[in-house]
Amino acid sequence: MKQKRGQLIILSGPSGAGKGTICEAALNTIPNLRVSISATTRMPRGKEQNGVEYFFLSEETFREKIEEGAFLEYAKVHDHYYGTPKAHIVQMLDEGVNVILEIDVQGAAQIKEQMGYGITIFIAPPSLSELKERLVDRKTDSFEQIALRMKNAQLELKQAQNYDYIIVNRTVDRAVSDLAAILRAEQCRSLNNLEIIQEMLM
Ligand code: 5GP
Repeated sequence: MKQKRGQLIILSGPSGAGKGTICEAALNTIPNLRVSISATTRMPRGKEQNGVEYFFLSEETFREKIEEGAFLEYAKVHDHYYGTPKAHIVQMLDEGVNVILEIDVQGAAQIKEQMGYGITIFIAPPSLSELKERLVDRKTDSFEQIALRMKNAQLELKQAQNYDYIIVNRTVDRAVSDLAAILRAEQCRSLNNLEIIQEMLM
């Protein structure tokens, strides 16, 4: 039987909803899962390192990469560019690895359109007050940045209805177990298993 293509999991949600924390915990508990590292033109925050959380690029280099067609999608979010590098993701999917993209709502729409597949999951905070509290508590954004992220949160929440699933991030453990449940269910979709059935049919 030929190698099954990995699942493409697209996670979006307002900044501070906990996407990064969920991804980190998911990598430690869900097998055969990798997170794609995006490129961005924003400056590193706190202890962020180039090639770990993001590839930090100048705007000029980012534009060159757009011209080269190196991104699966890219978008301007909170005044900076963010993009998903194409080559590595396609390779991982071909090898059967499940790949998480943690991208904004504009990027998610582009991917769904271009790739024609992918499981879209919206990570929502339990409330707006909790979202603001998390942004303040992480102490990495200025007052203006927090205001901008809260404003953008409204725009992103409006897109939640277009996603296949919504996970409300009340606790990280619960959110990761929801994510694992979604992946298990998707793996059992009849379309994903028809080949095995066909082999058994005379
Ligand atoms: P942050 O600056 O907080 O790390 O990320 C800001 C926003 O950019 C988040 O909503 C995040 O999901 C989004 N983002 C991160 N990487 C990408 C990417 O490669 N493409 C797109 N479209 N959005 C991204």
